[in-house]
Amino acid sequence: MLDAQPEPRHRARVISAGGSHAGAWLGAFPVSRWLTARGRHYQLALCMRLGATLIDLVRDEGEEVLCGGCKERAHDAYGCHPSVCRAGNRGNLWSRRSGALERAIVGALWAKGQYARLTGGVNWFGAAGYSASAKRGKGAYVRADVIAPHYNSPTSHLFLDAAVTDPGSATALRAHSDRLDGTRAAETRATRKEKKYAPITDAIGSKFIAAVVERFGACCEDLTGFLKLISGDGDRDPLCDDYTFSSRSNTTYIAQMVVFATVIADACMLSDVIDCDVHNTPLNLDDKGATAPREGGSGDHRGRAHAPAYERARGSM
Ligand SMILES: [Zn+2]
Repeated sequence: MLDAQPEPRHRARVISAGGSHAGAWLGAFPVSRWLTARGRHYQLALCMRLGATLIDLVRDEGEEVLCGGCKERAHDAYGCHPSVCRAGNRGNLWSRRSGALERAIVGALWAKGQYARLTGGVNWFGAAGYSASAKRGKGAYVRADVIAPHYNSPTSHLFLDAAVTDPGSATALRAHSDRLDGTRAAETRATRKEKKYAPITDAIGSKFIAAVVERFGACCEDLTGFLKLISGDGDRDPLCDDYTFSSRSNTTYIAQMVVFATVIADACMLSDVIDCDVHNTPLNLDDKGATAPREGGSGDHRGRAHAPAYERARGSM
């Protein structure tokens, strides 16, 4: 199977699709909005997993679909480019994708009766969170994405920082994500997060967990351990009617929520890119088809890099 793949990035996809919990989303039972996807997004997600060509992006020899973000590269037929594009976060595409993962983690914690929230604009790290090198040397307070307050004790919290990463990116391939004995893309990213946040959370007596998921659904070791921790061992209650035979275990049931959100959000991103670059639909349309108000004015496709994925509450820090 691996040898049959034409390129390193496809080998990386096949390996990633067999990673930790990567296939969990396929067994999701549509019992809530969080486990439901639009047909278009589900179809795109399946194509991504299988490495099928996307009909909207396929062109004859000599023709191509130019990427509307970097305006330099053409789209490949497999939907790989939007996730590695230099201007990939235009219209907050990447922020929205990782935002879905953040919210799914909060949802998974809530499903287990554990309070959690997005940290938003609140500085939970205090002075320990100040980084002189942040914001290109200007200095700033760093923040993790999700907090489970008082998780370990009254003064000890659990922090998670979420990211969706691509095993087919140049960085991941340099770490040999296309080889079985290479380093998984999620681990490479998780190590970087660990380096950034763990010293801070240690300083305030809290704990940090890197929540990195590859775009095909594979979870990093840290996140896999965390999902196991909150779900516990054993199987779902046989009298519950909210799971399928393939997700009987408590851990798979919880992992499913997180992985489903990530994979479908990735497909949603791809769908938006296709709508924009192939069908000339602006990226900032809301669900009703109206132009959503956004900084930079309508028609400005190129979003600011690292823009927040959610509105900050007014008056908060
Ligand atoms: Zn591009």
